Amino acid sequence: MDCDVLIVGGGIAGLSLAWRLAPNRAVVLVEAEASLAFHTSSRSARQMQPSYGPGAIQELTHRSIAMVERISARLPSPILMPRPLLTLGTAEEVAQLVAENANLVPLNHTETMERSPDLRPEKFEASALDGTAMEVDVPALLEFYRSQAVGAGAMVLTGSPVSAVEVVGAEPPAAGNGAEPSPNPAGRFRVTAGRHSITATTVVDAAGAWADSVAGTFGARPRGLAPHRRSVAIVSTEKPVNPSGPMVEPANESFYYRPDGTHLLISPCESVPAEPGDAQVVEADITELIQRIDAVTDLGITGVVRSWTGLRTQPADGLPVVGFDDGVPNFFWLAGQGGYGVQTSAALATLAAGLIAGNLPDGDAGLAATLSPQRAGLA
Ligand SMILES: Cc1cc2nc3c(=O)[nH]c(=O)nc-3n(C[C@H](O)[C@H](O)[C@H](O)COP(=O)(O)OP(=O)(O)OC[C@H]3O[C@@H](n4cnc5c(N)ncnc54)[C@H](O)[C@@H]3O)c2cc1C
Repeated sequence: MDCDVLIVGGGIAGLSLAWRLAPNRAVVLVEAEASLAFHTSSRSARQMQPSYGPGAIQELTHRSIAMVERISARLPSPILMPRPLLTLGTAEEVAQLVAENANLVPLNHTETMERSPDLRPEKFEASALDGTAMEVDVPALLEFYRSQAVGAGAMVLTGSPVSAVEVVGAEPPAAGNGAEPSPNPAGRFRVTAGRHSITATTVVDAAGAWADSVAGTFGARPRGLAPHRRSVAIVSTEKPVNPSGPMVEPANESFYYRPDGTHLLISPCESVPAEPGDAQVVEADITELIQRIDAVTDLGITGVVRSWTGLRTQPADGLPVVGFDDGVPNFFWLAGQGGYGVQTSAALATLAAGLIAGNLPDGDAGLAATLSPQRAGLA
């Protein structure tokens, strides 16, 4: 099998890039698991919050929301809905957040209780609202990316873990004798993925928690991409939940909760170093979290409907790693999205596709440099 671009990883990063590249490139995507998005991409809280994360993430989130709004408008039912983010804290904490973030509007106590009547009023001093935050139907977005990519000719192979690679057809660079330079003097990759042998000009590492180890298979040095587990539970409550209520989170990000239909989605916001793998819930984290949420709301949590854990993977500076590797020609990184992989996917894939095609708009050069695998501070 032969292609221009081989994407390793069938999570939201790999699928969104396949969507952007497939109209103009022969794309093959390989996923180790039997189904797509088995790992982190099916375990998120599904939020797109413009006020969450450092500047580069906020920019990518704004762009992605605009893109997903356009996608949503093309689908039979909307996949994006408003989910305002209510941040609670001391007056000092909230004032600082508001000063740093144009999307956050301070609310007084009465306004806060109107927005979220289930809060215990004595449990917070101040609050601010990001009214631009959204919730996205992630399975529908993933299916959009997949079906658009396949419709444009991409091949998607599940149950196909990349296990070995060799470089074939390497030629020495043109000798400066007027001959046309070789289009690919570095050679092409021949990759073993499950029972497939795939030859590709460019390989993209979109392997999430495994990105450093996949890079190693291709001879690229690791960038210090560290997986950390985080859990979510869906719980039932004594008092009815308002399905259109806000997501609520303290300024120190020590937990969050939001409506999930008539249930409540809750997270202890833990960030515990973990090995790449099928992350599992630590029951004690959820038990302790329920007590904390019962202390700030009068909803009265009655039971856990289901719970899950995923891995948020990022390098030391907390920004994604996107761009060509400087040591292995034609090896491209699309990894390290941490807790922002859903809210940035559409714009990050567009940026990556521009870098791969060599037609990145001039205005995006700064953003690309900020995310470069060669930036200072990475391993
Ligand atoms: C609890 C939780 C809540 C979150 N909430 C949000 C949120 O609200 N908003 C937001 O923006 N983000 C959120 N995130 C983060 C977001 O889910 C991730 O950033 C995103 O899913 C990462 O996508 P990915 O495609 O890089 O990784 P993954 O989905 O893990 O995909 C990587 C894929 O690569 C495959 N792979 C690995 N090795 C190989 C190999 N050798 N060969 C072939 N395939 C391979 C894996 O099997 C995997 O399927 C949350 C994360 C967690 C854990």
